[in-house]
Amino acid sequence: EAKKGKDQYAVFEPSMRESFQRHLEMEADLRRAVLRHEFQLRFQPIVRLATNEISGLEALVRWQHPERGMIPPLDFIPLAEETGMIVPIGEWVLREACRQAAGWNAQREPGNPLSVSVNLSAVQLERVELTELVSSALAESGLPAQCLVIELTESLLVDHRQETLDRLAAVKALGVRLAIDDFGTGYSSLAYLRRFPVDIIKIDKSFVDDVGDVPAAAALTLGIIQLGQALQLSTVAEGIEDAGQLSELTDGNCELGQGYFFAEPLTPEAMQDLLFPPTAA
Ligand code: C2E
Ligand code: CA
Ligand code: CA
Ligand code: CA
Repeated sequence: EAKKGKDQYAVFEPSMRESFQRHLEMEADLRRAVLRHEFQLRFQPIVRLATNEISGLEALVRWQHPERGMIPPLDFIPLAEETGMIVPIGEWVLREACRQAAGWNAQREPGNPLSVSVNLSAVQLERVELTELVSSALAESGLPAQCLVIELTESLLVDHRQETLDRLAAVKALGVRLAIDDFGTGYSSLAYLRRFPVDIIKIDKSFVDDVGDVPAAAALTLGIIQLGQALQLSTVAEGIEDAGQLSELTDGNCELGQGYFFAEPLTPEAMQDLLFPPTAA
């Protein structure tokens, strides 16, 4: 370490300024993106493992940037949360996901509707009149409340304020179901499973990754599935990529699964073709 004191700053500052500038640029871009409707949804099937049927879809947002191309959510959701832009983005995602799902359900047998899962950020839970938003998205799309799943991360449930609990209870009272996303990765104790009106546990991909070859991962995964059964919750295994993982999970009586093994997140057009295969001429 030859340089010390203010020289250290001389080295550090340009990159900081650069990243700050990039940050500002991206923020301005994001504001424009909301005004210009540059967001798109992808839909990934959630499959009933016992029958191989598609039981639902998860809506996943993408940003089609005019110069930079398709930007994945992890590259802009954090900034969107920081700046509050997640509020209009999340509102669009919810309305659009409900609209699409209702459209697909109208083409299916009435007794067997798909459900659609939407990711909710903690910022939305704090700032948005969620019950009003959800009920208006359901009303305008015609999607029945039982067909909507709201996915929350464990970190959101660490917030034990009564207010948060009340807000979630009010949304649930509409008839929508709540899922815990990335289950097993959070810090919190399992106590929130008793406090929060959760319906579905989504087992994080990190467990599923090793379920076929690491005994500890298999034990944890099977343990989570059994916990879900004991609490009468549905379990969804996330990130299933191969047949080995699938057979472990099926043997363990995991109810539902999602992952590239079944399908990647698909454009609405590709999902339409998967759900309703165009008949050959
Ligand atoms: P998530 O909710 O855990 O979504 C699952 C992510 O895993 C998706 O990434 C999906 O494409 C990916 N995935 C699914 N199956 C596989 C697999 O078999 N292998 C691998 N390697 N990956 C798989 P994506 O679409 O990039 O989304 C990343 C995260 O961004 C999501 O994680 C979610 O936390 C967040 N996100 C996506 N859409 C929204 C949204 O509309 N609102 C909010 N607040 N967050 C969103
Ligand atoms: Ca999710
Ligand atoms: Ca997840
Ligand atoms: Ca995740």
